[in-house]
Amino acid sequence: MTQLRIAILSVGDELVLGQIDDTNASWLARRIPALGVMAGERRTVGDDQASIARAIVELSRTHSAVVVTGGLGPTLDDLTREALADAIALASGESRAPLEEDPAGIAHLRKWFEEKGRVMPPLNRRQALRPPGTSLLANPNGTAPGIATWSSAPLCVFCLPGPPREMQPMFDAEVAPKIAVDGAVVLTAALHTVGLGESSLAAILGELMDRSRMPSVGTTAKAGIVTIRIRAEGNVIDAQRALDATVDVCRSRVSNIIFGRDEDTLESSVGALLLAYGATLATAESCTGGLVSARLTDVPGSSAWFKGGFVVYANERKMEDLGVPSSVLDEFGAVSHATAVALARGALRRTTSDYAISTTGVAGPTGGSLEKPVGTVFIAIADRARAEVCSRRFQMTGSRQTIRERSTVMALAALRNALLDNPLQSLLWAESERVHVEPL
Ligand code: ATP
Ligand code: MG
Repeated sequence: MTQLRIAILSVGDELVLGQIDDTNASWLARRIPALGVMAGERRTVGDDQASIARAIVELSRTHSAVVVTGGLGPTLDDLTREALADAIALASGESRAPLEEDPAGIAHLRKWFEEKGRVMPPLNRRQALRPPGTSLLANPNGTAPGIATWSSAPLCVFCLPGPPREMQPMFDAEVAPKIAVDGAVVLTAALHTVGLGESSLAAILGELMDRSRMPSVGTTAKAGIVTIRIRAEGNVIDAQRALDATVDVCRSRVSNIIFGRDEDTLESSVGALLLAYGATLATAESCTGGLVSARLTDVPGSSAWFKGGFVVYANERKMEDLGVPSSVLDEFGAVSHATAVALARGALRRTTSDYAISTTGVAGPTGGSLEKPVGTVFIAIADRARAEVCSRRFQMTGSRQTIRERSTVMALAALRNALLDNPLQSLLWAESERVHVEPL
């Protein structure tokens, strides 16, 4: 369970180098408990966009909110705004949106310089930028507005300026009322599933998805992965409890198809299983052309369980690299159970891996036939310990790119089922009656 705590993240090279003391963090660590909320982890990172984004995402996993100080200045080494947009994209799984200029922020900066009888330097305009969906926090004592991801982002983050005389009043006026125990927060959780379509999942979740329900439960789908999105509002303690309770109810209804939460991906969940079993994997890809291997190697540390694979697009490579018999290709064709099985079997024979995934299909737009229309894909999983190869036939729709992406996701999902010792578990787009199991 996420603990009811607020993390403090200090940003600045001078802090990392010990050139100034981090009095902001100690001030906040005293102030936060006074609001009835626990101050949690304290972290310091340099003026590095990726480090700031990573720290925000990591701290958000175990804390209800993150208060960031520093890096909101006008110069190019002030990177908190950009890093916050990166963190939102990482947490939501959506693409990174460019920063937007906030008209109220521009008005504040103009007024600030006007009152001082100065022309606003062009560089200061950056200080009115914020990620879409966030809001600015007023700064009566300096140029840099704060930023809150308060209302709609998947994270609860407050970014405040570094100078203490700007940070402290802004925290008291803008942040404290929101994180105080009787203030309202918005907390979210995402549970990722694979195996059912969005409407079948909705039917199982039933009344949980009523529009009037709090916390709210909704779903979003992408390439065969359906995500259950839960959102709770209220004071931080009640909202956290309600969120956790709804997560538990959702889990109890569809636990077998949930592969991860929040940051988890299908490939990271498959990797975690392989790592836990001390098992390794090889791939033999035809229609996905290496996409399965690319997804697997997206996971940091994947070399522990993914040793490599084969891209065998043309028949000659299937025969020469993986020993697919020409008789199999002649009799059944390259897109068939027999070829998928032979590919997976070949990948196990030519490596020491415990599991192998193979894909072969008609990605289109041409090449389809009456018997095997565009979107026909065979995916096989070979399991050395079970001494078995299990192949499935899928019928997918969409563009070439969509079919290849869906094939990649289904290959990983089929592997997940095999790892969970449930190789025959249903999969989206699989023709259920056409599972084909052969000895290795
Ligand atoms: P600015 O507009 O001044 O650039 P900023 O939000 O970018 O503001 P920083 O550049 O990180 O903030 O820091 C500006 C100044 O604020 C630092 O030189 C330092 O004096 C002070 N400061 C920043 N962080 C802290 C901290 N954690 N504790 C104490 N003082 C800090
Ligand atoms: Mg600065």
